[in-house]
Amino acid sequence: MLKIEDLWVSIDGREVLKGINLAIPPGETHILFGKNGSGKSTLLMAIMGFSRYQVTKGRIFFLGQDITQLPTFERARMGLGLSFQRPPTLRGVKTGDILAACAGDRVSYQSLAAAYDFTRFLDREVNYGFSGGEIKRSELLQLLAQDPKMVLLDEPESGVDLENLEVVGEIIGRLLQKDRRRHHRDKSGLIITHTGFIMDYINADRGYILLDGRLLCSGNPQDILQDIKRFGYEECTRCRR
Ligand code: ADP
Ligand code: MG
Repeated sequence: MLKIEDLWVSIDGREVLKGINLAIPPGETHILFGKNGSGKSTLLMAIMGFSRYQVTKGRIFFLGQDITQLPTFERARMGLGLSFQRPPTLRGVKTGDILAACAGDRVSYQSLAAAYDFTRFLDREVNYGFSGGEIKRSELLQLLAQDPKMVLLDEPESGVDLENLEVVGEIIGRLLQKDRRRHHRDKSGLIITHTGFIMDYINADRGYILLDGRLLCSGNPQDILQDIKRFGYEECTRCRR
């Protein structure tokens, strides 16, 4: 589904990612851990192709095609979807209109909104005055409407209270077809989490730790989370499993 080869990314001339290698097969969900400033968001932004994130070396393949030079909208059209860590507020754009644009003629955005108790937000401007949990719900509903083959989620649980966390977990489970048996799933995910809370709602296949722009570790995501809790990220620089 997604393959990244020796990816180096700079922002404003500063090297942030230093040789990332990663492969995510269809139907698998991978988790990206790492402390603040290590380059996690940068990796998702580079996969999505935002021009500020300059690929200085390496390649990104999606569905077998080299997308390293493709503009963002074409990546989205191919089936890459992103939920931002800090989504922008869009004054003058109604949430219902952006949901409708994401849905096209695939699904009824009104019934999607109704299913997740979101109808009363449709007439409001995107994210304007929304709580943290409402912003994340709005982001994830846009993704559901878009129905991407691969979802990139940047800290979907940040700023979300426990009550909303359940809904957020449920939507992510639906995005990643967690209701199906493993070999019947074809959607993939790459999810950044700080807390690991979201892992209670999805069973992830693999985890990584990103430290200072390099992937240091790969393995069972629950094991990795336990190790981070017990030993902290600093231990990763020594361990290098
Ligand atoms: P993480 O998501 O792991 O917390 P980021 O990818 O957001 O880390 O940031 C990695 C590094 O790149 C940080 O040092 C951050 O300050 C820097 N950075 C991120 N975005 C920008 C930007 N738009 N302009 C300048 N520096 C940035
Ligand atoms: Mg981040």
